[in-house]
Amino acid sequence: MSNEKEIPYKIYLEESEMPKQWYNVRADMKNKPAPLLNPATKQPMSAADLAPVFCDELIKQELDDTTPFFDIPEEIQHYYKTYRPSPLMRAYHLEKALGTPAKIYYKFEGNNTSGSHKLNSALAQAYYAKQQGLKGVTTETGAGQWGTALSMACSFFGLDCKVYMVKVSYEQKPFRREVMRTYGASVTPSPSMETEVGRKILAEHPGTTGSLGCAISEAVEKATTTEGYRYVLGSVLNQVLLHQSVIGLESKIALDKYGIKPDIIIGCAGGGSNLGGLISPFMGEKLRGEADYRIIAVEPASCPSFTRGKFAYDFCDTGMVCPLAKMYTLGSGFIPAPNHAGGLRYHGMSTTLSQLYHDGYMEATSVKQTDVFEAAEQFARTEGILPAPESSHAIRVAIDEALKCKETGEEKTILFGLTGTGYFDMFAYEKFHDGKMSDYIPTDEELAESISKLPEVE
Ligand SMILES: *Cc1c(COP(=O)(O)O)cnc(C)c1O
Repeated sequence: MSNEKEIPYKIYLEESEMPKQWYNVRADMKNKPAPLLNPATKQPMSAADLAPVFCDELIKQELDDTTPFFDIPEEIQHYYKTYRPSPLMRAYHLEKALGTPAKIYYKFEGNNTSGSHKLNSALAQAYYAKQQGLKGVTTETGAGQWGTALSMACSFFGLDCKVYMVKVSYEQKPFRREVMRTYGASVTPSPSMETEVGRKILAEHPGTTGSLGCAISEAVEKATTTEGYRYVLGSVLNQVLLHQSVIGLESKIALDKYGIKPDIIIGCAGGGSNLGGLISPFMGEKLRGEADYRIIAVEPASCPSFTRGKFAYDFCDTGMVCPLAKMYTLGSGFIPAPNHAGGLRYHGMSTTLSQLYHDGYMEATSVKQTDVFEAAEQFARTEGILPAPESSHAIRVAIDEALKCKETGEEKTILFGLTGTGYFDMFAYEKFHDGKMSDYIPTDEELAESISKLPEVE
């Protein structure tokens, strides 16, 4: 073990030490994630089935369960170098405030203008779309981080970017929208009159403020009916976990430099991309029997896919147009309570993480949003960074684990993913500060109702 005094507040890597390949954890899994199924035939989706929707190179990555490493194209490496390596921080101030013997590290991904880790995959997806000679891409965005990251990436590679933004966010987060437009994206509130599915939904529900599921359906329709366009997605898919492995690879290189081995690795889980990326090299060691780590996924108590969902085939979207994925799900019709402000609202979970969780390689826990914001505030006041509500789920559990160490006197090493900053979430912080934030935990009956509507597959 190295002398504690030698460990800096920020562990940076030299550019020359940055990863040049992404790591595909599926290559080391004995039980591979179940394949995506065609919703009509219930047969595994082939590359040809996926080609009208996704970019060719990304389909290859999506379907490849055996190749452990993929070269990061040089142009992507060049853009990574403009905001990476992201700092690996030692939370000395937080440790001191908690009075814990635990050593807490966090990998901070909010250090770019889009404010989250999503840029790591946006750059890759825009690059491959450009390579294929496409004109543009379409996507949906809820809170706006993915739309912002994709807009940036598209502006770098000279691609057209069309974002369907859930109408309620479009109206409540005008600044997010303007950031996207600054990078040249066109942003349409969803549901819109531009697509058949949008017009249909508006006719049926005139005053609707939209949903992620509806925005996905619009984005997919636009991509498949416009020459030279494809659809891209910012989480859940295997390709996204692959690109996000850069987070874990950098963390591992930095920790290894100082001989640090984490005991516990913690990340928030929405669709699973940041967590899947952070844990990937550590999980690889675990799968190969070379090392052991406790790995914890943290989700909101109001949207508890891992902890209360069912491991089964389900639709990825509310419109039921996308492929079926075998994952921990609450049912594609599940919508978290309207008072839920903390993000991570997706009903399902990455198929890779679902399989790993099912096989006992990781744990999951859920936390209430008022406890999440309390942790966010404690973190901001000690470490200085204003965390995104999503990231603060991981902070909550890191603090709880550090407090357990205080009781037992154990000097555990904790690593967590700090996925982004919360500047566009000040309405949620305001609610918390004003004491107007409440916790809603769905009842067993509610979940059973939504889970009972899963499609018949096996
Ligand atoms: C999108 C997002 C998440 C959740 O998505 P995952 O795919 O589960 O990583 C977490 N934190 C931030 C800041 C995000 O923008």
